[in-house]
Amino acid sequence: MNGFWKQTVLVLTALILAVGSAHAGKLEAIKSRGKLVAGVKDSQPPFGYVDEQTRQIVGFEIDLCAALAKKLGVDLELKPVTSATRIPMLEQGAIDLIAATMTHKIEREEKIDFSITYFPATQKLLVKKDSGITSVADLAGKKVGSAKGSTSEQNIKKAQPACEVVSFETYPEAFLALKQGKVVAVTTDAPILLGIRNSDDNPDAWAIVGEDIAAEPYGIGLPENDSDFRDFVNISLMELWKSGEYQKIYDKWFGPSTKFPIPLTWTMEIWP
Ligand code: GLU
Repeated sequence: MNGFWKQTVLVLTALILAVGSAHAGKLEAIKSRGKLVAGVKDSQPPFGYVDEQTRQIVGFEIDLCAALAKKLGVDLELKPVTSATRIPMLEQGAIDLIAATMTHKIEREEKIDFSITYFPATQKLLVKKDSGITSVADLAGKKVGSAKGSTSEQNIKKAQPACEVVSFETYPEAFLALKQGKVVAVTTDAPILLGIRNSDDNPDAWAIVGEDIAAEPYGIGLPENDSDFRDFVNISLMELWKSGEYQKIYDKWFGPSTKFPIPLTWTMEIWP
């Protein structure tokens, strides 16, 4: 080998090693750090929100992350994300995973990977009870609030090209605009809308209406091409389901005696 080729082989080897080590071992990194860093929502009851008494972020997705951290034997650190910031934050390595009402969309697969579905949702509308709006058709020529970076804002544009979508950083901001009469509806996943509605001082003033605008199955967002970590998360979710721990967590946040009752009517994908 002449000098040029020797040099080239060295550079290539270094590159392969660098790329390999950048991708390898999120699991090892988490364990040696002693901490799982999860990107979660902090204003979406009951998925992830700040508890008024304790000032801590709590919720259904927080408990799922805590169960994953427990399986790893590490602490859990929560980092608030928005619909727009969550994928860039994962790509930059600022968080290890995303548990933030994020729909598993094939187009999002370009940047990150996903776990199996841990919560199935569909998109609907939140309106003032006496508004007369009962479906997407009624939104023609009207303003609708949603969140930046969400599938909700994309879906509604397709479902009702004649409406004007006003996008906010978070859903509570969209709800404030609804209260102020700046938009006539807020659109996103029905369980998020239920969280907003039932957290309001006067829930009966608001109604969740309309057809299912889109199917929105939630998956945990994971770094691209780290199959060991993805296997761990998938198998852990299945173990939580099989052991009944998932159902316990679900019942705590969505059970009949909670503020946000949603019957558990689906079954997680379980690999034999
Ligand atoms: N599930 C939808 C999404 O992933 C809407 C909820 C959200 O913005 O977090 O975009």
